[in-house]
Amino acid sequence: VTRKLAGADAGTTQWMTSVGNERGQVLMSVLTAAEGYGLRDMATGLQERYRQAGQDPPSVLYVDRDCCRSDGGTCAAAALFPEWPQLAVRLDVWHYIRRLAAGVTTESHTLYSEFLCRLSRSIFEWDPEDFARLDRAKNGELSRRPIAFKEMARHCRRRTRGVEATERLLDETIKAFTGATDMMGIPVLDSARMREIWRTQRRHIACIQ
Ligand SMILES: [Zn+2]
Repeated sequence: VTRKLAGADAGTTQWMTSVGNERGQVLMSVLTAAEGYGLRDMATGLQERYRQAGQDPPSVLYVDRDCCRSDGGTCAAAALFPEWPQLAVRLDVWHYIRRLAAGVTTESHTLYSEFLCRLSRSIFEWDPEDFARLDRAKNGELSRRPIAFKEMARHCRRRTRGVEATERLLDETIKAFTGATDMMGIPVLDSARMREIWRTQRRHIACIQ
């Protein structure tokens, strides 16, 4: 994950790249003057550490860039880890949503959070078995009261919907919000920018599954 530094260092051209594991522990961080540059040493060091520790190599790497190549070749992120040929590179979903959300006119728009919600729902679905179990536990066999999001999040796994459904739902969501305005008549999406973002980003739907 590579992010521009915020806070006191904001505005300087420094990038921090951190690698974390599935327990949320940061394994390694590097500061570089430009995004992406100098990551090879870090990747080499990581592979070495796994080898020395006798650890099985990780199976998935979540990135916020370089998830794939338009010509279908090895993506830049995977190319950094030649010792781990089985490593699957996935684009981080939250980062993907942020990319799509860059099509809004302003984040303070009243429809902004609704738009983010719909994007998220276009990508994720609740595990139907988990949901059925929770619904039975909460409502028994009879009533059909809605269950709060917080409770859903605590008890149900979420999974991605697959490429086809996600592409259709995202397309519907973007179409539904294009032209939508607040009470002052201000549109939530910059339609030209949104169209361009969607045109370039739809190929990454496969990268978030
Ligand atoms: Zn991609």
